[in-house]
Amino acid sequence: MRTDGTSIASQPPEAALAALRSQAAGLSPGEARRRLQAFGPNRVETLAGEPVWLTLLLEFTHFFALVLWLAAGLAFAAEHFEPGQGMAELGVAIIGVIVVNGGFSFWQAYRAEKALEALRRLLPQQVKVRRGGHIDEIDAAGLVPGDIISLAEGDKVPADCRALESWGVRVNLATLTGESLPKARVAEADPAAPADPLVARNLLLAGSLIVAGECSAVVYATGMHTELGRIAHLTQTAGDTESPLQAEIRRVSRLVALLALGLGLVFFAIGQAIGLPFWVNFMFAIGIIVANVPEGLLPTVTLALALATQRMARRNALVRHLPAVETLGSATTILTDKTGTLTQNRMSVRELFAGGRHRLAAERWPAGGDVHLRAVARFCHSLKFPADQPAGDPMEIALWQFAGPIPEPGERRGEIAFDAERRRMSVITRHPDGSGQLWCKGAPESVLPLCTHWMDGDTAHPLGEDTRDDFNRAHTDMADRGLRVLALAWRPLAASDEADEAQLALAGLVGLEDPPRPDVHASVERCHEAGLRVIMVTGDHPRTAVAVAREVSIVRGPSPLVISGEALRAMAPAALQLALDAPEIVFARVSAEQKMLIVQALQRKGEIVAVTGDGVNDAPALKTADIGIAMGLSGTDVAREAADIVLLDDHFATIVNAIEEGRAVFGNIRKFLTYILTSNIPELVPYLAFVLLRIPLPLTVIQILAVDLGTDMLPALALGAEPPHPDAMRSPPRPRGERLLSWPVIARAYLFLGPLEALGALAAFLFVMQAGGWAYGAMPAPTDPLYRQATTACLTAIVLAQMVNLFVCRHPREAAWRLPLRGNPLIVASLLAEAGLLLAIVYTELGNRLFGTVPLPVEAWLFALPFALLLGVAEELRKGVLRWARRRSDAAPARH
Ligand code: ADP
Ligand code: MG
Repeated sequence: MRTDGTSIASQPPEAALAALRSQAAGLSPGEARRRLQAFGPNRVETLAGEPVWLTLLLEFTHFFALVLWLAAGLAFAAEHFEPGQGMAELGVAIIGVIVVNGGFSFWQAYRAEKALEALRRLLPQQVKVRRGGHIDEIDAAGLVPGDIISLAEGDKVPADCRALESWGVRVNLATLTGESLPKARVAEADPAAPADPLVARNLLLAGSLIVAGECSAVVYATGMHTELGRIAHLTQTAGDTESPLQAEIRRVSRLVALLALGLGLVFFAIGQAIGLPFWVNFMFAIGIIVANVPEGLLPTVTLALALATQRMARRNALVRHLPAVETLGSATTILTDKTGTLTQNRMSVRELFAGGRHRLAAERWPAGGDVHLRAVARFCHSLKFPADQPAGDPMEIALWQFAGPIPEPGERRGEIAFDAERRRMSVITRHPDGSGQLWCKGAPESVLPLCTHWMDGDTAHPLGEDTRDDFNRAHTDMADRGLRVLALAWRPLAASDEADEAQLALAGLVGLEDPPRPDVHASVERCHEAGLRVIMVTGDHPRTAVAVAREVSIVRGPSPLVISGEALRAMAPAALQLALDAPEIVFARVSAEQKMLIVQALQRKGEIVAVTGDGVNDAPALKTADIGIAMGLSGTDVAREAADIVLLDDHFATIVNAIEEGRAVFGNIRKFLTYILTSNIPELVPYLAFVLLRIPLPLTVIQILAVDLGTDMLPALALGAEPPHPDAMRSPPRPRGERLLSWPVIARAYLFLGPLEALGALAAFLFVMQAGGWAYGAMPAPTDPLYRQATTACLTAIVLAQMVNLFVCRHPREAAWRLPLRGNPLIVASLLAEAGLLLAIVYTELGNRLFGTVPLPVEAWLFALPFALLLGVAEELRKGVLRWARRRSDAAPARH
């Protein structure tokens, strides 16, 4: 049954339903199962991406790889012209490097992709579908053509469908057309249905977002048969753009590669000057370049990011774009909602103010004559009752339950919907004779002006100024205690009356409590410690907002700046920007649209802003912010689509945990940069010694490759996977634009760790040479066993030092022994792999042949080991001094 959109759009709803062989009660469960078999799951594999063989091929044909291929070709050419110089081995080794490096990159990219794919499956989209007369909620992947679904504001359309009934539906087609102006969608047939389903006025296409209204619709295409599927099929591009971090890594790689190139050229010139044979010299230069080009950097970074997303997912934060991981780490300000994020969104009625009296609420409605107050609480809501249990806004559920069962006042006939601008809603009920009531509840500022009377038991008194003051005072009293206050009002309607919200009688005020989440307080404290600003933005009353902010210690000072939505409207952008300098700010009675203004003002001040949101109206703010954070439980699909991160538990603490992981990633990349840059020095120094001290070359080009692309690889990866250190949240956010390859990183690797390692390497070489009877000035042949043994010792000394370096690189300041190994099993695993590789190079036939090594006597190991330990001791001493200096400067009294 293949149905195209045009024919479905041109028929009336019933005919469309019949054409899909479905009916008003929906498909029978059996039929749905059969169709699922026939049509397959409703999934668009947008990231099918390139075929595997192509990605694999690309790993062997990118720029660095081509340089390597060229080098290998030249080596073989050299062997042809000048046999016996070991050039063929070099060629084989370089090809080995290409294969190992390409395979490794591929494996990392593959793992990263798999990790992201797993994340995508963590948040399945749920859809309400009518099958066999019942409404079920199922995973969107289970939809089949003919299914009848209900959609409402905030939902993402799960498949291509035709509207059957529609109430004010407007859709945003941005994912399909790029056009973000909402379009109306109706249920009526369109006889002149256009061939393009994107413009048909009664079709709802997969991937589009419902920004207003409600509808039921019948599915006519699923999965790859949808318009979205077709587009995805056509473009097949991987969605992620390059993050600033990846761009920075690319920059660093280029820089280092350029440096390598420069070094290669300089060394070539020196070699020519001192009269080295041309081919040897040429290959030597190539070797230097190859050794120092950081091929493995980019994939390692990608994998480090992907692993971080997995760790974040385990802590309930779902990252939708890889770059967000790192942006999150540099966040400086969190703009957070109150209800549900800081609080539990578990409302309960705590206090009442009615009939001029203040009362604490008990479990059930207190005995007394508040019939009208109770009726508003019971009937004024937009709850739904699937399976006879109330579902919807927790506040309305609390009121409904608190009121308890009371006789129905006629039939529900209409609703004047809640919106954050009006801050109230009403429900209209009518009797068969046409008379009825209007029940209204909302924020007191919004409802009180509409009231002309107040209820004292059953009698309505005119609402004078004095009584109004009484109510206002009761309101602020309750708000100061952190309660959300609602005014409940009603009015009788005669058959001829228009049901408008005017001339109301105020039945009373209700104070609801929404306790803070238990660990929010601790999380806010962590933010303070981490130099992160937390600003609350809520639709609630200023006093309630401040009371709650105080409870969770977002506000600690005596007089926080409270900016209301009204004040915000009157503020010029510059004024807002200045106001944001205040240390403690709470935004109250703010609408979602205004959130975006706040985000923009903060960004103009140079802040990196994370903002939370759940509703359709929050989407602009989520998009504008550096990091948009949507709620996974209470949020709408629209908010999730706009966000970079989705919180699976809606919890503020999760944001803070995710920031911690984000910070860790940046630190980890620095760790492995330090690690791999360190070994560049002991690779260069031997050549300098060869030229300047006129000793035999202590380390051959192939041996350099063995370190850079062999033994160093896995430990670098392990450093990239380090879990966050508690330290991560004890310092202020890293300054915007701070370079990854900062001066301290370069100095530590090139001027401290590197030279120490080089010292050991040279010493080991000279030790073996001297012990074998070498005298200064003699130049042994490359095949001389003693010379080979000495280069092997040099290589061994470097790898041993790198083994120690692995541990000291785990933290730039903290002592290595204070970092638990349990936190990162890869450390030990990579250490073992490194040791295994070294032993294979030194002691196996193949290793000896490939790398020009020979087995080492025990004395050589015993000689090299102390140098490796020296590196560890010296670095730990340096760190110790650093910590001591820090403590001293912390302890020193602050000067002004
Ligand atoms: P928050 O930021 O706390 O989620 P909202 O924007 O949801 O705030 O609500 C703003 C105000 O609107 C509330 O303080 C309350 O006075 C009123 N309000 C919220 N929900 C309803 C509702 N369902 N019916 C009537 N009034 C409501
Ligand atoms: Mg709300």
